[in-house]
Amino acid sequence: MRTRIAVVGSGPAGLTFARVLHRHGHPVTVLERDAAPDARPPGGTLDLHEGMGQLALEKAGLSAEFQALSRPEGQAMRILDPDGTVLRDWRPRPGELANPEIDRGQLRDMLLGPVEVRWGRRVTEVVPKGRDGVLVRFADGQEETFDLVIGADGAWSRVRPAVSSATPQYTGVTFVETSLDDIDSRHPRLARLVGDGSVAVYGVNRSLVAQRNSGGHVKVYAQFRVPLGRQAHPDREPAPDHRPDPDDAEAVRSRLLALFDGWDASVLDLLRQGTAFVHRPSTPCPLRTPGSTSPG
Ligand SMILES: Cc1cc2nc3c(=O)[nH]c(=O)nc-3n(C[C@H](O)[C@H](O)[C@H](O)COP(=O)(O)OP(=O)(O)OC[C@H]3O[C@@H](n4cnc5c(N)ncnc54)[C@H](O)[C@@H]3O)c2cc1C
Repeated sequence: MRTRIAVVGSGPAGLTFARVLHRHGHPVTVLERDAAPDARPPGGTLDLHEGMGQLALEKAGLSAEFQALSRPEGQAMRILDPDGTVLRDWRPRPGELANPEIDRGQLRDMLLGPVEVRWGRRVTEVVPKGRDGVLVRFADGQEETFDLVIGADGAWSRVRPAVSSATPQYTGVTFVETSLDDIDSRHPRLARLVGDGSVAVYGVNRSLVAQRNSGGHVKVYAQFRVPLGRQAHPDREPAPDHRPDPDDAEAVRSRLLALFDGWDASVLDLLRQGTAFVHRPSTPCPLRTPGSTSPG
């Protein structure tokens, strides 16, 4: 009988792992909570480094596809002071491929290929059963047993508790993301500020980073220190109680403009022209925490 392998999560890690297994002839099922690949915006651009993300794609046999889609020019990085002074303006040399950028949506579509993904399958718990395999429980009450389960379901993993007591920790830093479309035609001055890659402006306990994605789309991240809200709980994704209503874009914009008051006007235009706002508290999981092992 063939080994039944499940990967929980269809993010970059889960899909890459699934493609590597598939390439070596191992059938694998990816279990993903999202209802469809495009159920939510895929997020911003990712830089994939030589010997790391690029090596993983090589193992999956996808180097040529990555080269065709990725943007080496996106490695460009400009660093400014809050008053607009340019501290660094770095552009990659021709042929420089240390860490090209790729849109997450493009990366996802490239990785999906022949992989079997079961969409709308939210995993709630994974229970190792020794020689009987691994029981996977789903939010709809169903259960299924696999021989091997790989957790690739992000920081708030439902798989990790089966092998580790580590939980994500709030770093004290929150990102508020906004974006601009058709920047070259609609906001040419901001397009020059962002350039082909990223612009980062660092102040004390706060920063603004804008990154060009493909198709003239730019994502802007305002990053600052803020305590988590009262209802936040260490074992759950942070509740949004400390934030202004994220649907009230103008209230979020006003708060951000007050927070970055005094910064260079052209930098603040990134916030003035941004459309919707998304809050992203930074809650990574400690990397090196002792885990236990068990069959399956
Ligand atoms: C603003 C920002 C910028 C970043 N830029 C970079 C960068 O340039 N380069 C880089 O390498 N990294 C970057 N990162 C980090 C990056 O987000 C992660 O490295 C990457 O997304 C991790 O991939 P992953 O597949 O492990 O997890 P995720 O991308 O978090 O994917 C997890 C998947 O699991 C699914 N899932 C979650 N829970 C369940 C469940 N219970 N049941 C079923 N499915 C579930 C989710 O829906 C998701 O599809 C950035 C992060 C942020 C916030």
